[in-house]
Amino acid sequence: MVAEQAERAPHAPAVTCDGRTLTYRQLDDRANRLAGRLRAAGLAPEGVVGVLVPRSPELIVALLAVLIAGGAYLGLEPDDPAARHALLLEDAGAAMVITEEAAGPELRERLPGTVVTVTEGDPAQEPATAPAAPARPGDPDRLAYVSYTSGSTGEPKGVGVPHRAVDRLVRGADWVDVHAEDVFFHLAPVAFDASTFEIWTPLVNGCRLVLFPPVAITLEHVARVVRAERVTVLLLTTGLLHQMVSSHPEAFADVRHVLTGGDVASPGHVQHLLARYPELLFTNGYGPTENTTYTTCWTSSTLPELRSVPIGRPISGTRVAVLDEDLRPVPVGECGELYVAGAGLARGYLGRPAATAERFLPDPFGTEPGARMYRTGDLVRWLPDGTLEFVGRADDQVKVQGYRAEPRAVEVELERLPGVRHAVVLPQPDPAGGTRLLAYVVPAEPGPEGNADLGRRLRHDLRESLPDYLIPWAILVRPELPVNRNGKIDRRALPTATRVPRNVPNEFVPPVTEVQTRLADLWGDVLGIEPVGVDDDFFDLGGHSLLATDLLVATQREFDVDLPAQTLYMSPTVAELATALSERLGTAGPDGRADAPGGPADAAGEERPR
Ligand code: ADP
Repeated sequence: MVAEQAERAPHAPAVTCDGRTLTYRQLDDRANRLAGRLRAAGLAPEGVVGVLVPRSPELIVALLAVLIAGGAYLGLEPDDPAARHALLLEDAGAAMVITEEAAGPELRERLPGTVVTVTEGDPAQEPATAPAAPARPGDPDRLAYVSYTSGSTGEPKGVGVPHRAVDRLVRGADWVDVHAEDVFFHLAPVAFDASTFEIWTPLVNGCRLVLFPPVAITLEHVARVVRAERVTVLLLTTGLLHQMVSSHPEAFADVRHVLTGGDVASPGHVQHLLARYPELLFTNGYGPTENTTYTTCWTSSTLPELRSVPIGRPISGTRVAVLDEDLRPVPVGECGELYVAGAGLARGYLGRPAATAERFLPDPFGTEPGARMYRTGDLVRWLPDGTLEFVGRADDQVKVQGYRAEPRAVEVELERLPGVRHAVVLPQPDPAGGTRLLAYVVPAEPGPEGNADLGRRLRHDLRESLPDYLIPWAILVRPELPVNRNGKIDRRALPTATRVPRNVPNEFVPPVTEVQTRLADLWGDVLGIEPVGVDDDFFDLGGHSLLATDLLVATQREFDVDLPAQTLYMSPTVAELATALSERLGTAGPDGRADAPGGPADAAGEERPR
């Protein structure tokens, strides 16, 4: 389908990132050459290829090349720990990984299997070690990609998605109207299936795809790129949408269609957005990875006074049913579990027939032999107008910074670490309107470390294997945990902390100057941590991009200075930020540790990728 666009409009821009653009012809040529190299390296049909490439035109070349070569891509997050990369590659049976040339030999050495590099720049420079592999009509049931979701056993599960499922999302949709002049935006990690919509919808429809540069995501930078590139179709996951509407509503000025999804949308934010831009089309999309990005969508330009934003109707190519425990349809208005069927269904969990059979059931309503339906674990109800309302989860799964998280998976990981007898992980609200994880741990035996030290060490050790969003905000060590009458741990009796002790292993250095003291207090409020030391890193303490926005708003209020988010990324400790702030306030000098070694002398320059 992308090759057809390259035939139709070879010189039309296909991908833009940071000032570099590939036309459809260039994209297709480069992807074909790389596909030839993948085949020459022995890629088998449906062979899984890890793609470890930061957002760049080369990322899109790599993804397309894997598909052309008949393989399935597995998007890896450059920021994730190496152990996580290795685990996913092994679980998916990936024999090959694509990295960028600039990745350096150390990275290439620690990646398992054959490493193929994608080079930046002129298509003519692409090493021609093998003839280009022309795209051929593929089998719609062939695997297109593998996307990992957190599993409750502690083992991530690889969802295998075929081409047919992507086709049903990106072509001829009845819930989004795509024009060739549209400009799409890619921001979501490729490991996450929102990227399926972001990347392939524009490229099979001949639109231009703008990639956010490979740097830390800040709201103001996203807003700037969206406006400068005149993005017209914009998907922001729910948490990001809320914050963008609150802090940078001007970002939507040229946008024609805004889509969200991933978590419960707030009616207030949606109403606010639509009141400001009455022409804007808005979609609340709902769906699990197992049914390819979106399952149901609610598209409108107005939001009536409702207690929630509906998740809408099944999209084209998808059927849904709301069933009770005996798999009987429930009446309108009653809560039931959502089951989904149709062309969007994944093949199942790679290499896990038992887990697949548990969630992908025979479809009693299907007309085709062998039809299956996926049990979502989501509770919903039909509204009288024929749309669906999301009610909640039937299990413990939560969303943390837009990612699916099973608290049990983090418990399993904690219990694997030395010194831990028992771990309980609880979700709780965070001040940015999202959810964060709090862990309670019972030590194996009273060890040489104090409780607080053990908690800090465990949190640090988890970073070796888990992605950032799964690292608990705090790990509180207790000699025992409350039990109920059955002798089971009583999760409800565990206190939900709003403030927890400092949770990083670097030495505590108290604030000295007034600016540092006021800043440390603000950090404590936003992060719920105490005490905060001047050398503590905002992101190590549990900060993330949405909390960064809260901190900057609080800083603005406290000091009456508008700090760009970039400053926090470049100066992520209290001491560094105090110096940056003092410079703005015109009070730099003895107070700001500006001269201290390791201080912010090098603070100018690029944003730090995180
Ligand atoms: P996605 O990419 O759509 O976030 P995931 O597989 O990561 O897919 O997560 C799917 C789960 O996220 C759903 O089962 C549901 O619990 C929740 N979810 C997704 N979209 C919405 C939405 N619009 N409203 C409420 N919950 C949602």
